[in-house]
Amino acid sequence: MATYTTTNPTTGATDREFPTLDESGVEDVLHRSDAAFPAWRSLTPQERAGILTRVADAYKARSEELGRLIATEMGKPLAEAIGEAKLAGKIYRWYAEHGPELLQPETLDPQGAQESLVTTEPVGPLVGVMPWNYPYYQVARFAAPNLMAGNTVILKHAEICAGSAQVMAEIFHDAGVPEDVYLNVFADHDQVAAMIADPRVHGVSLTGSERAGAAVAETAGKNLKKAVLELGGSDAFIVLEDADLEQVARTAAEARLSNAGQACNSPKRMIVPTAALPDFVSALTAAFGAAVVGDPLDPEVEVGPLSSVKARDTVVAQVNRAVEQGAVLHVGGEALEGDGAFMRPAVLTGITPEMDAYSEEIFGPVAMVYGADSADDAVRLANDVSFGLSGSVWGSDVERAQEVADQLEVGMAYVNEHGTTLPGLPFGGVKRSGFGRELGRWGMGEFVNTRLRRTA
Ligand code: NDP
Repeated sequence: MATYTTTNPTTGATDREFPTLDESGVEDVLHRSDAAFPAWRSLTPQERAGILTRVADAYKARSEELGRLIATEMGKPLAEAIGEAKLAGKIYRWYAEHGPELLQPETLDPQGAQESLVTTEPVGPLVGVMPWNYPYYQVARFAAPNLMAGNTVILKHAEICAGSAQVMAEIFHDAGVPEDVYLNVFADHDQVAAMIADPRVHGVSLTGSERAGAAVAETAGKNLKKAVLELGGSDAFIVLEDADLEQVARTAAEARLSNAGQACNSPKRMIVPTAALPDFVSALTAAFGAAVVGDPLDPEVEVGPLSSVKARDTVVAQVNRAVEQGAVLHVGGEALEGDGAFMRPAVLTGITPEMDAYSEEIFGPVAMVYGADSADDAVRLANDVSFGLSGSVWGSDVERAQEVADQLEVGMAYVNEHGTTLPGLPFGGVKRSGFGRELGRWGMGEFVNTRLRRTA
């Protein structure tokens, strides 16, 4: 790949091309990132926080323009896209406000010595590999804590959102992040591997597929580098008997259709009491059937195109395979004619463990609904996948719902909400959903040297 090409998924038109690094480009990037590190780390945390505040201000002020950009690059409805740009701004602001305190040295009980001091030190250049589904938010989760901590960042974004990747770099530089402290690179996969392997790089964070995560973590492991991985999920949305079924079905539909279902923590599997299954499925089917699919810039539209025709075809093929294997399709599932990457949202039931859909992630507007005979049965189903990102439990007896939520094998369990992400809360999963945590104080603990100085 000598260029990154962006294609508007609404029209199928190729928008722009961006040349990738040439042969000497990788060395140049590594040299610049490494050379920029000493000056950046030597700023006070307050100075770095001041710069991040200006980044946050820019996201807030430019949210409409930034929203339009990703709506045309990856197809997110404009209101959601603007919301994402604002959320990214809030993440930069959170680290600007809390970073200096989190980086305060800590004096421990000296235990017989004069002093035991623990400091939090940056480690150096890091590589970030980010996906197209939340272009601004994903970068913020990685860049905000690490820039705050004093690391330098080499950011390789997905080809699909090369234009917004470039604008993000401009925002950093305009706000006062030195040019080489945040380097946006258009690099192919081999070039990314070469960067991770280079001794000047101290770690890598990737959000994306299991395939990409395994490739990047393999290179990191071989070279004894730390990796943080945020991969896929097949989150369960468990409805208990005492839940308000109508209300919960509406919320489930909204959550699943958000971003056309292309979220790692989207509620991909809904598990409801067997007796309530027909009513829940009919409410969900009605909501999916009524969802307005179309141009993400049209304010009436609820579901935009998928990120590419290839991604859409993958999801449609997954639905078709489920039906061939015996699942029941209640609505949608077909591609829309034309050059865009559109499909009709689908509801599937009757999925059994032998079917592919039971265990795979469906990264699109498709709900899989299961009936469960008891809360224990619901938990068993929820945990019977290789993923462990998040899950939610819905019911009016909150304590009971919390007990059920405590049994989910996930990194994030929610009661009466699903997938809330806030700058101060940890984000990440277990099992094949990855390892490490982003956001909050945990996000700033991944790529730092927790350093002891003890004076006898
Ligand atoms: P990928 O995982 O391929 O892409 C995510 C990022 O990883 C992109 O920047 C991509 O770059 C990069 N990448 C991929 N392979 C490598 C590699 N070997 N070395 C270095 N970088 C690499 O996601 P896709 O777009 O292909 O989506 C496929 C599936 O991934 C989805 O269906 C979904 O299941 C999952 N996914 C999960 C996400 C999440 O939020 N957890 C986000 C996006 C996807 P490039 O664009 O240049 O290939």
